[in-house]
Amino acid sequence: MVAPLRVSERIIHNFVKSQQDWVIAAKDKVEKNKQAIKKIAPEQYKDGVSIPFRGEQRIIQLHFQVIKQIKIIDEPPIIKLYLPLALEQENIHETTRHALVNWMKKQAAVEVKKAIDIYAEKYNLFPRFVRIKTQKSRWGSCGIHNDINLNWLLILTPPKVMEYVVIHELCHIQERNHSANFWHLVEKHCPDYRQHRLWLKQNGHSVMQGL
Ligand SMILES: [Zn+2]
Repeated sequence: MVAPLRVSERIIHNFVKSQQDWVIAAKDKVEKNKQAIKKIAPEQYKDGVSIPFRGEQRIIQLHFQVIKQIKIIDEPPIIKLYLPLALEQENIHETTRHALVNWMKKQAAVEVKKAIDIYAEKYNLFPRFVRIKTQKSRWGSCGIHNDINLNWLLILTPPKVMEYVVIHELCHIQERNHSANFWHLVEKHCPDYRQHRLWLKQNGHSVMQGL
């Protein structure tokens, strides 16, 4: 009677242990996945940090001047930010981040408009409206009335990737779903679209986290 009890105790012990191991392994996996999604935003926005812009890294350079309005100038590979001299040290991070995000949204609107102007005409696919949006899980969408929404974070991706997303949404004006016909049309207008989809698949999660 003693031996089976000992065995069962050991089995129980092993079972509990294996369960614990499983939980630890699962936690490890979650942790690793979090690390795998590389952060694109710096911990602290300050002079010398870098951020992506149009698929390239830009170095942020802060200049403090006697000005009221923040000014941003893109001089690849540098983005120069002119900040008011009176800005408190503890506000530099948030003010810089906020100014950069606003500037990026404006750049996104300009670049999206350029791409729409070219491709709508070229492929005879005209949207009703085009809006730049802040979206956490999608790059773009095309509504039933051909209103196209595009994520401003596309400005961080290579220009060709942004162009692909614009063409993708324009193609939805003709093909509403993701059928074979739809992908044929995308391929016709953007022959290397697979490469851009792959880029989004590999880097999209990081970019979606934003600045
Ligand atoms: Zn689609």
